[in-house]
This record gives sequence, C-alpha cells and structure tokens, in this order.
Amino acid sequence: MLEARAAVKNLHAYRPPLAGRTGLRLDFNESTVGCSPRVLARLRSLDAELLARYPEREPLEKEVASFLGLDPAQVLLTNGVDEAIHLLCSTYLDPGDEALIVVPTFAMYAIFAQAEGARVVEVHAGDNFTFPAQDLLAQLSGRTRLIAVANPNNPTGAAVAGEVLVQIAQAAPQAAVLVDEAYFEFHGETLIDRAFAHPTGQIENLFVARTFSKAYGLAGLRIGILAGETEQMAMVRRVASPYSVNAAALAVLPEALRDQEYVGRYVAQVLSNRERLQQELAHLGLHYWPSHANFVLVGIGSAHTEFVQALRQRGILVRDRHLDPGCEGCVRITVGSNEHTDTLIRALREVVEQLGLRKELPTGLPTEVRA
Ligand code: PMP
Repeated sequence: MLEARAAVKNLHAYRPPLAGRTGLRLDFNESTVGCSPRVLARLRSLDAELLARYPEREPLEKEVASFLGLDPAQVLLTNGVDEAIHLLCSTYLDPGDEALIVVPTFAMYAIFAQAEGARVVEVHAGDNFTFPAQDLLAQLSGRTRLIAVANPNNPTGAAVAGEVLVQIAQAAPQAAVLVDEAYFEFHGETLIDRAFAHPTGQIENLFVARTFSKAYGLAGLRIGILAGETEQMAMVRRVASPYSVNAAALAVLPEALRDQEYVGRYVAQVLSNRERLQQELAHLGLHYWPSHANFVLVGIGSAHTEFVQALRQRGILVRDRHLDPGCEGCVRITVGSNEHTDTLIRALREVVEQLGLRKELPTGLPTEVRA
C-alpha cells in the first residue's frame, strides 16, 4: 500500500471556506474593488502565442527588482507568498529542525514547515497581541532553522518594529528569518531597504515576502515576491520551478507596477475606512485591536457564530477566527472601499441591535450612540 510520509499524514488539512462566497467579500483580506483597469485591459489583450509558450520570469524579476531598489539576483517571483514560504521551508528545513512562529498567525508557515518534518515551536503573542520578542529569543536553539513573522500580522493586524526583527535575525544566524510583508501597502514600513539595499551590508539570513494579492487586487493571478541576500536567493532558486508564475500573471505585472496611482488611491481609502470602522466599533461597544493592515480583528464574544451568520444574511462575508490561539470569540473583518464600508457599517449597526450586543456598551457613552 502506498503511504504518504509520516510528516504529511500528521498534517491537518487546511480548508479555507472558499465555497459560496457570493456577496460583499470581507473574509479573505482581498481588495474589494479589484485590480487597476489598466491591468485588466492588458489581460484582455493576451493572445494564444503567449499562452503557448513557457513563461519567462527573468525579465519581470528585473522590473520588480528595479521597483524595489534591489539587484535582480536578490528577487524571486513566486506563485504568491504561499510558494515563497514553501520554498524557504524546502531550502532550509530538515526533518527534526525547528520552525519558530508567533501565534496567532497565518496558517501556511506551520503547514509547510511540518510537511518538511520540522517541529513547529509556537510562541504566543503578548497581551493585546504584542510581539513577544523576549519569549521568541528565549526559544532559539541550535535546531532553529526558520523563523516566520507576518508584519503586520494576520489575523491580529499588529505590527512589530523593524529593528526587533533585525535583532532576531542577528541572534539566529543559523535560521532563515522570513518577514512576510503581505500587507505592506497598508502599513508603509518595510525591511527591504534596510536589509538588502546595500550589497555589502546585506543581512544574510533575512528574507522579505510581498504579494500582489491584497492592495493590487490580484489574488486570483497568484503573484508574490521573495527578496533576500544574493547567495541565499541562489539556493532558494534551485528548488523553485522555473514556471510557477504563469504567463498571464507575468504579462500584466509591469502594468500593475506602473499604475501606482490606482493602488495608492485604494490604499488611501482603506486607511481612512479602517479608521472609520474602528471608530464605529468603539461606538458600538465592540472590542477591537487597532490594525496596521486591511482588516480589523473584533472581539465579539460568545455570539461570534451568530454574528458571522447575521452578516451573511445581509450579504456580507467576514471570517470567524474563534479557533486561532488567543482569539476566542474573535471575527476578522476586511476593510474595503468607501461604499463597501458604508454597507458594512449599516449592517453592523443592525446586527449589534439584533443580537443584543449593545448591552455590553460601557456606560458613559453619548446617548446618540445608544439610539
Ligand atoms: N501572508 C499572509 C500574512 C497572509 O495573510 C496571506 C493571505 N491571507 C498570505 C501570505 C498569502 O498571500 P498570497 O496570496 O500571496 O499567497
């Protein structure tokens, strides 16, 4: 009988709730308005010849490198950040090695690390999901070969200062340190300039990942970036398929990079709506954690399932994160355009009323908020 490797048999299947996602999608941190019309026009112009050929990634790596102020040898285009994580795990993890992650966080770090037979060491975030730098440093060992940190983090929206991540990388030279900047555009701070911009001062074991899935509205095309020190990237490239980023994704990429005005406008809307949503949550008496990304984690309490259902009945999808470590009763809500935020806020007011969540309003709030 054919048997999968023990490490694979021990994995829990990860099945994000992708079925039946009709309505206002505030459940996967995607863009709510989609990509730039210029990108769509380019996509529509593709021909059979382009699709008949194997895709050539290198010229696009040059463009992306120049956009990031890096050398092309420091940049690998990937099939989303997911593939970047997978490649780092394949490049650096042997069975029995340790992969350190800070929980709660994005699920794929643990999955790809465990698939290599590595042991995942979970370090719990501090109060209010602050980054547990000291606890993480205390968990370093000679077997620590991967440290993965989402900055800002998903699902909490919390961010950590770049210096702290640099210190961690310096304290663990035997480990690949992945800083996942999937939500960079909504946060505005990056380690890329600091870590690799100067060829002589590259931090050898630090990697930064980016994606076109969020701010650029291209989650369906699957394009991500992994940046790192030149010689390490040469190693990662050895395990990468030359064709994992498809021809359509590569063909539209230059247009996506060029239309920064479109991305900038969307990001500006999300930032103002994030503020508006957070204020509304406070007025409704719902607990939330201030976010640096395009979503907000909200503490609903025991009614979390009913809350998600009640929004679904109003055509709005949000994500129950109740099972994530430290997230009991929590729901994550993606922030989108002005119009989508208006719709969300109207529905939130009704649902809070319907479920009687308003009872939890602290006293002393202005009466008009209670009405
Ligand atoms: N990293 C983080 C922190 C994420 O939240 C997500 C998407 N949920 C990803 C990576 C996946 O990105 P991509 O679509 O580029 O694979």
